[in-house]
Amino acid sequence: APRKLAAGNWKMNGDLAALAEIDLLREAYPDPGCEVLICPPALLVHPMKERVGAHKMTVGGQDCHANASGAHTGDISAVQLKDAGAAYVILGHSERRADHGETDADVAAKAAAAHGAGLIAIICVGETEAQRDADETLAVIGAQLAGSLPDGASAANTVIAYEPVWAIGTGRTPTNEQIAEVHAFMREQLQGRVSDAGDVALLYGGSVKPGNATEIFAIAHVDGALVGGASLKAADFGGIISAL
Ligand code: 13P
Repeated sequence: APRKLAAGNWKMNGDLAALAEIDLLREAYPDPGCEVLICPPALLVHPMKERVGAHKMTVGGQDCHANASGAHTGDISAVQLKDAGAAYVILGHSERRADHGETDADVAAKAAAAHGAGLIAIICVGETEAQRDADETLAVIGAQLAGSLPDGASAANTVIAYEPVWAIGTGRTPTNEQIAEVHAFMREQLQGRVSDAGDVALLYGGSVKPGNATEIFAIAHVDGALVGGASLKAADFGGIISAL
């Protein structure tokens, strides 16, 4: 069965003082019934991992370079994330695709590097509002999946996150039927590409809050969430962990 994963993406938010949220999560969820992951800015990966201590919560990056090391000023490699204590890395987030021009091929190369370094890659896909309005959603998701998954992807090393671009940070979410349609489609698309396609965790992301999490987690093929704003405070993220 797919892993159940509550994943927080802090994006470019948080500082050393914000690590106090980790203490609150450890205290409130000493033994959570799902995997709990937080992906802070890269600078905080190591101190956050130290703060997690013996708790089973994991820490991840938000991007990595496709190379292990070299002359790439400002970049961080998957090997370095692993060394700092990361277990996961988010790749191909729509903000990276938009702000840094990342293509599906870039994402596949980064995911291959993540796998090589022993990290689990969370590969993000999602349509824009214009693409949904033009009925292109499944075509867009299918192409992104086909192009962004590296050879050797498996349920052990890969998680897929469906994040409609128009639902990110907007308070708007797709209908349950729309989420169900995309998640069933992704599961089907993974067949043939991944040997254990039925076991790959499929996350939904985009305006997930404690108030809508229970409903979203009840949808078939939704194995967890990738959470932005509501992952910053333990009180909010805790509501999502409890719902899963
Ligand atoms: P929000 O939860 O803030 O909408 O962000 C979703 C997201 O982009 C997570 O990666």
